[in-house]
Amino acid sequence: MRREQLTPHLVRLTLGGPGLASFASTGIPDEWVGVVVPDQFQSRYYTVRSWNGAELLLDVVVHDVGLVTEWVARDCVGQTVTITDPRGSFALPDEAAWVLLVGDLTAMPAMARIAETVPTDLPVRIWAEVPDAEELRSCGYLPGRADVTWLASPAEGASELATAVEAIDWPEGDGYFWMAGESAQMRAVRKHLMRVRRLPSPAYDVMGYWRAGTKRQPRAVDPGLVWRAGKAAGHSDEQIWSTYDRAQETAQQEADQ
Ligand SMILES: Cc1cc2nc3c(=O)[nH]c(=O)nc-3n(C[C@H](O)[C@H](O)[C@H](O)COP(=O)(O)OP(=O)(O)OC[C@H]3O[C@@H](n4cnc5c(N)ncnc54)[C@H](O)[C@@H]3O)c2cc1C
Repeated sequence: MRREQLTPHLVRLTLGGPGLASFASTGIPDEWVGVVVPDQFQSRYYTVRSWNGAELLLDVVVHDVGLVTEWVARDCVGQTVTITDPRGSFALPDEAAWVLLVGDLTAMPAMARIAETVPTDLPVRIWAEVPDAEELRSCGYLPGRADVTWLASPAEGASELATAVEAIDWPEGDGYFWMAGESAQMRAVRKHLMRVRRLPSPAYDVMGYWRAGTKRQPRAVDPGLVWRAGKAAGHSDEQIWSTYDRAQETAQQEADQ
């Protein structure tokens, strides 16, 4: 395990070693793994920023507090973590003529990988809500092909991405909308896409990546399990992520009792 401080808010972990011999990337650009850090049982989910057949890169946002946050801030170098099989949900329709990506700092690894991998003839627009845009611009975090609108994060634990989505001037024709961030904001965005934009569910993918304002951490709900069960039942991405949000809410209510 190597550790590199990319920006004051973002740490890159490079995982390697024989334990990754059986790692099989899905190739889906928003694929994630569950990570269990030493001496812990709860997992947290992180996007595979890249995989080169030998090394796996995870870009971890450092919050005020948090299980992985605190482990990353301590000396994590050389330690061994457990990761789950990767899963991804980005599903670009064949007819898509453009791609819109919206997210906060935790979504940056996925947005960067998506922008790097979608066909070069597709215009990619990104709205990124981050604490300090200059940090990310100066390290060239997003590929140059993307047309990026930087939005300032209001404060740790807050987000105004749902409002930003309502203000989007949508391109003509068919495309694909991908978004990730705080779960309550994502629920509001799904409603907007369904009721106002009237997008068919294959045209978008909106994922709750984390929950704001939790005093105690609920048990982690594995998005991979929810994803597999939903796919097996023939559910749409939108139904699957709504189920995931509900499962997180239930876990939160249990933790609050
Ligand atoms: C599919 C998926 C992919 C993800 N990919 C990434 C990724 O590549 N990089 C990444 O950094 N995160 C990613 N996340 C989000 C990450 O799993 C959560 O932010 C996680 O809670 C962080 O764990 P922690 O142990 O540091 O904090 P926790 O112990 O989970 O939380 C501690 C406190 O921090 C708050 N908190 C948690 N996340 C945030 C946040 N984003 N902003 C502000 N406050 C927060 C909580 O509300 C809580 O009060 C992803 C999540 C999912 C579901």
